[in-house]
Amino acid sequence: LLASIVFMAGCIQSEEAGVKPTTGKKNDDDIVIGFSVGTTKQERWQREVEMAKEFAAKNGFELMVQSAEEDASKQVKQVENLITKGMDVLLISAQDSESAGAVVDVAHEAGVPVVAYDRLVKNGDLDYYVTFDTEKVGELQAKSLVEQYPKGNYIWLLGGPEDFNAHLIKQGHEKVLKPLIDKGNIKVVTQQWAKGWSPEEALKHTENGLTAANNDVVAVLASNDGTAGGAVQALEAQGLSGKVGVSGQDAALEGVQRVVAGIQTSTVYKPLKELNTHAMELVYALAKGDQEKADEMVNGKTDNGAKEVPSILIDVQIVTKENMVDTVIKDGFHTMEDVYKNIP
Ligand code: BGC
Repeated sequence: LLASIVFMAGCIQSEEAGVKPTTGKKNDDDIVIGFSVGTTKQERWQREVEMAKEFAAKNGFELMVQSAEEDASKQVKQVENLITKGMDVLLISAQDSESAGAVVDVAHEAGVPVVAYDRLVKNGDLDYYVTFDTEKVGELQAKSLVEQYPKGNYIWLLGGPEDFNAHLIKQGHEKVLKPLIDKGNIKVVTQQWAKGWSPEEALKHTENGLTAANNDVVAVLASNDGTAGGAVQALEAQGLSGKVGVSGQDAALEGVQRVVAGIQTSTVYKPLKELNTHAMELVYALAKGDQEKADEMVNGKTDNGAKEVPSILIDVQIVTKENMVDTVIKDGFHTMEDVYKNIP
């Protein structure tokens, strides 16, 4: 991915940066932003919708939020509906990275710029992308496991194949795992995708992997905390929980609780507040017609198959038992009390 995401030292020239909103508005009272999320299943999305609502309330503009609850065609219809109601900018976290491309054309026809949130919209004339360094998420997950389990059988669980992030994470995994697989130190007993990032599918894949390897597995490379939860359940059933490494992502409460309990090796902390604030500031600037401010915020670009999309990229951090206090707790992402709730 480093070929497609280029971190840039300086700013992108403003003429490179996307469609200019045709209707810059001065009055906050007149501004309407649409926020379309693919799902609210995982804890993170619920938090982010609340953060966006708070930002809108503080700045006095209207925010229309819709969740497609994992139905990609529903998301397209919801967005069309939002456009008909009238909005200035669309912020979208796509359920399906490919099919969401159609949304961009519909929005542009109505003069509405589109900003992708966390999940890339592929093959469309997307205006901006606000995201974490997702390939790094995968790298950190794999690194945290191979440091402790440099040799042996691995179960490799990928996220939702319809979500481009799951593929970026896989690229990160490969960077770390491939040399060790080639050397013969690590053997992958099964590699499976969990559609819709489903913990139930992750559980089944882990069960199957354990059966195939006669329980001789040293680690489960799971792509987020939800699927890690499924893996841990399968390990528990075999009396292996705490004995096999498990990675994760999101620093979801259930994830960090498992990390401090010693049944999940790590999770990846993605500062959601930072992502959300950047995204909201960007869409707000676009709605006000402040192209200069929007372009100043850009710090990279991402190839979405159709163009180099001006992007805001935010760093991520590995979280283990050892640095829990210095990361998620220090940042106020979770309280000490919540994280250590189940620890006697
Ligand atoms: C996000 C992850 C999340 C997953 C499931 C991905 O696109 O980047 O943070 O766990 O979707 O919602």
